[in-house]
Amino acid sequence: MQSQSRSTTYDVCIVGSGAGGGMAAHALTKAGARVALLEAGQMWDPIKDGAMLKWPYDSPRRGASTREKPFGEYDGCIGGWQIDGEPYTTAPGSKFDWWRARMLGGRTNHWGRISLRFGPYDFARKSRDGLGDDWPITYDDVKPWYDEVDRLIGIFGSVEGLPNEPDGIFHPPPVPRCYERLASNAAKKLGLTVVPSRLSIITKPHNGRAPCHYCGQCNRGCMTNSNFSSTGVLIPPAQKTGRLTLITNAMAREVTVGKDGLANGVSYIDKKTGRDAHVSARIVVLAASACETARLLLNSKSSTFPNGLANSSGTVGKYLTDTTGSDVSGFIPKMMEMPPHNEDGVGGMHIYMPWWLDNSKLDFPRGYHIETWGGRGMPGSGFMGGIHRYPNGGGYGASLKDDYRRYYGSTIGFSGRGEMIPNDDSYCEIDPNVVDQYGIPVLRFHWKWTDAEYNQVKHMQETFRAIIAEMGGEVFSPMPTKEQGYGIANGGAIIHELGGARMGKDPATSVVNANCQAHDVKNLFVTDGSPFVSQADKNPTWTILALSMRTSDFIASQRKAGAL
Ligand SMILES: Cc1cc2nc3c(=O)[nH]c(=O)nc-3n(C[C@H](O)[C@H](O)[C@H](O)COP(=O)(O)OP(=O)(O)OC[C@H]3O[C@@H](n4cnc5c(N)ncnc54)[C@H](O)[C@@H]3O)c2cc1C
Ligand code: SF4
Repeated sequence: MQSQSRSTTYDVCIVGSGAGGGMAAHALTKAGARVALLEAGQMWDPIKDGAMLKWPYDSPRRGASTREKPFGEYDGCIGGWQIDGEPYTTAPGSKFDWWRARMLGGRTNHWGRISLRFGPYDFARKSRDGLGDDWPITYDDVKPWYDEVDRLIGIFGSVEGLPNEPDGIFHPPPVPRCYERLASNAAKKLGLTVVPSRLSIITKPHNGRAPCHYCGQCNRGCMTNSNFSSTGVLIPPAQKTGRLTLITNAMAREVTVGKDGLANGVSYIDKKTGRDAHVSARIVVLAASACETARLLLNSKSSTFPNGLANSSGTVGKYLTDTTGSDVSGFIPKMMEMPPHNEDGVGGMHIYMPWWLDNSKLDFPRGYHIETWGGRGMPGSGFMGGIHRYPNGGGYGASLKDDYRRYYGSTIGFSGRGEMIPNDDSYCEIDPNVVDQYGIPVLRFHWKWTDAEYNQVKHMQETFRAIIAEMGGEVFSPMPTKEQGYGIANGGAIIHELGGARMGKDPATSVVNANCQAHDVKNLFVTDGSPFVSQADKNPTWTILALSMRTSDFIASQRKAGAL
């Protein structure tokens, strides 16, 4: 296949336009760099392309899911668990699910917007319990960038002063809905902590953007740009600088390296023509998502780097983690036959239950937070999860409709999101036998949960069942057994995969340094979830954004100093 080269040499080539890549594009173009942004997916503009205002009956499918929209036809993310022509494999005995976005803005187009800072303990876990590894940086090193991300993007929440749950610079949070008040009362009786949630949704005008009008459809893409997506909040200002060259449908194949051992650009496939092409750049920033970045590094082999780029430690693809997850839902009789009432709100939870216990008294390390869902959202296809699960629910015609009216809004659900400890059996590597439709070798995943994670999700299950009982409700499903892993979700299924190019002080055991700069290649940086040394009992994206901004500021200062 003939290769096409762009004549320009850019200051920076970024791969991936999601949280990590969008932030790098924003910060670097503002700092004066001329940036080429390669994105494997198609163009997308939430303001024009979002389905925020559609009714389920606007579609013959009633909004039901499709292969490239597994979370429903109106969901804002194009991609999914499987992408035609782009397979991945799992090693025998491993279960791993990999969600990939293929669109401008990546997964930020439909993510839950739960925007939590990692706390001081989260950067130094090994020092506290001897497991995993410490980060080479502390919370105080990242705090100024968390603050700046809050100011730039906007986030609601409340100042609480909780241990290891740093407060941010918050817009006022929305008040809890009826079912959230009931859940909150029950959880508090059981000794849990309940505070307003922290979501990157603006509740007052912010940097020229309109506040949320509480339609509750955030996952579809916000047409008033009131929630955070890279597409709505980061890419447009970067484009306005005139220094961003956006190249969509560009599937990066490998980072190319000069005779001096430095990165000199990225080769990619133009998906529209099928032709190979190349972008030349003085600096390369990888932000293709944690596992895709590991794949790119491992596939970037040369005589100087025969084991893949930045992989002299042999740790690219290693220390891969996901959040632990388990759910319980139930029926709450006192929420039946409620009079119509206002449950307007954002497209996500209004309450947050952070980790509240002392692990020294438990049989597992590290914690989890709890997400609450339920209530009277807009009914869509499959809503209420099947009427037959409710007492005497079901039938035909008028009685079926009556059942739906009676039970509508009487469901509650809890999801635990906890911290996994990195282990030697959970990693990704190149599958030697399989390539994708572009001829690029694909990833093979190895995965193993340990007792640390199994005991943690057992505790989640018991806690959620206790809250539902305290609310006077009935749980829909029996307690999962030990043989069923206590209901733990597959690796990757919570879509918080991190690691694969972890940061560290020692080049023998890590891929990048404390500035997310490759130990082996000084003009190569990583700004997605792959540099994470550990998970936390928090969702990761606010930290991806803060680290990406921090790394971009470092790159800008190095350019200014003539060091790059
Ligand atoms: C349903 C859902 C809910 C979530 N909820 C939350 C939440 O509430 N809070 C939270 O913190 N996190 C949440 N997450 C996770 C969050 O979306 C990710 O942590 C975040 O988007 C990761 O950012 P990223 O830049 O690493 O990757 P992405 O946002 O996935 O962006 C990567 C981009 O790189 C592109 N790309 C990949 N490979 C290549 C290649 N070879 N060449 C060119 N481009 C490439 C992709 O097309 C994609 O656009 C959720 C995710 C999902 C799917
Ligand atoms: S709930 Fe608010 S932020 Fe979410 S889509 Fe509606 S208006 Fe936008």
